[in-house]
Amino acid sequence: MKAIVISVGDELLTGRTLNTNLKTIAEFLGRYGIEILRDCTVRDNQEEIVKSIKEALKDADVVIVTGGLGITVDDVTREAVAKGAGVKLIFDEKLYKEIEKKMIERGVNITEIHKNYGLVPKGFELIKNDFGLAPGYWGNLNGKILFVLPGPPHELRNVLENAAEKFSNLSPVNILVKTVKTFGLKESDIVEILKDDIKFLTPIGFYPIVPGMVDLKLTLKGEDTEKLQEEMKKKIDILKERLGDAIYGYDGDTLQSVIGKMLREKGLTIATSESCTGGLVANLITDVPGSSDYFKGGVVSYWNEVKHNVLGVSEVILRHFGAVSEPVAIMMAEGVRNLLNTDVGLSTTGIAGPTGGTPEKPVGLVYMGVSIRGNTTVIERIFKGDRLMVKKQAALTVLNLVRLKLEEI
Ligand code: ATP
Repeated sequence: MKAIVISVGDELLTGRTLNTNLKTIAEFLGRYGIEILRDCTVRDNQEEIVKSIKEALKDADVVIVTGGLGITVDDVTREAVAKGAGVKLIFDEKLYKEIEKKMIERGVNITEIHKNYGLVPKGFELIKNDFGLAPGYWGNLNGKILFVLPGPPHELRNVLENAAEKFSNLSPVNILVKTVKTFGLKESDIVEILKDDIKFLTPIGFYPIVPGMVDLKLTLKGEDTEKLQEEMKKKIDILKERLGDAIYGYDGDTLQSVIGKMLREKGLTIATSESCTGGLVANLITDVPGSSDYFKGGVVSYWNEVKHNVLGVSEVILRHFGAVSEPVAIMMAEGVRNLLNTDVGLSTTGIAGPTGGTPEKPVGLVYMGVSIRGNTTVIERIFKGDRLMVKKQAALTVLNLVRLKLEEI
C-alpha cells in the first residue's frame, strides 16, 4: 500500500517548526508496511489543501492530512478535507458536547467559533484524541483512506495509536518490524561486518542516529505470523553473533532506559558529575520514568573551583594535567560517587568548542569516566561536529560506557 502525507501549516514553510510529524507518521506506517510515496507541505490555504488532497487521492491508497484542525481563522483543514473528499461538513451534537465538557474543564472562554469543533466531514469516523480537543477523522472514499490528524505532535501520536487497529485491518499481509539498536560502530563498520550475511538479512535498513550510533531495521512480510517470528529470530541471532555487545537494545529502548533497567535489576544507584555536557547526561537519565529509583543526583562542575570544592578533585592534578584530562575524569567520577554515596559515578570533561582548543587538546576532545564500586575506567574520544553534537555524543558515549561496565558485574 502507498501513502501520501499532506502536512498543513505556514509555520512549516517559514522554518519556525520542524516537520517532526512526518517522521512520526512514517515510522507508524512502516509498522504496517505502508510506504510513503511523497510528502507535501502546504500553507494554511484552503485551495492549496483541497488541490493536494484531490491529487493525493488519485495516486495513493492512504492519504494522511495533518495540522490546521483548530478553530482560529488560519485553521482551514476541516473544510478543505470535506471539499477534497466531495462531502459536506455536518454538525455532530454528541461530539460537540464532549468537546464542550473538555473546554469547561480547561476553563476555555467558549464562544460561537468553538462550535466548529463539532463539524465532521459527512461519512467520516471519529478517532479519539485523548490529549486535545479536535479528534482525528477517518474516511473511506471508495476504498481510498483519507485520515486527518491534529497538528500538535503529542496529539498526533495519540490519535495515530488510537487508529492502530484500523491500520492493521487495512493490509491482508502481516508485517513484522524489529529495530536493533547499536552503539560503538560506524555504519560502514557494520556494513563490513555483515557483508556475508546481507543477503539473508535483506530487507534491512541502516539508520545512523549520531556517529557511532546506528539503528538497524528488519522488516518481514507474510501471511503466517509464527513463521515470520521464527525467521525474525534467526535474523536477530545472526546480528547478535556478529555485533555482540554493540547491540544495546531493541525497538523503543534507549541507552538511558537500558542502563536504568540494569541498575534497577542489580539494585544499584548512580550519580553524575558533568563538565562539558552541562547536565545533559542527568537530563537523559531522568527522561526515563521511575529513574528516581536509581538516580540520586548530579553535579555540573563547570569551574575548576567546583571540581575541587564540591567533588574533591586535587588542585595539583587540575593544575598539572588541566581540567580536560584522564586523571580529572577519574577523580570526578570517584568524587561524585563518594559525595552522593552511590554505587556508580560517571564523569565528562572536555572541550565542546568552537573555541578553547589547542594542538594538544583539540575541540571535541572529551574524557568520560565511570566508577563502579572500587573500579574506575576512563575513555578518551575526539568527537566531530559543532558544540551541541560534541555534547550529545559525549553524553551518549558515557551512558554506553556505564552499560558496558554494568554488564561486567
Ligand atoms: P490546534 O487546535 O492546537 O491549533 P491544529 O490541529 O490546528 O491544533 P496546528 O495549529 O496546525 O494544529 O499546529 C499546532 C501546533 O503543532 C503548532 O505548535 C505547530 O507548530 C505544531 N505542528 C503542526 N504541524 C506540525 C508538524 N508537521 N510537525 C511538528 N509540529 C507541528
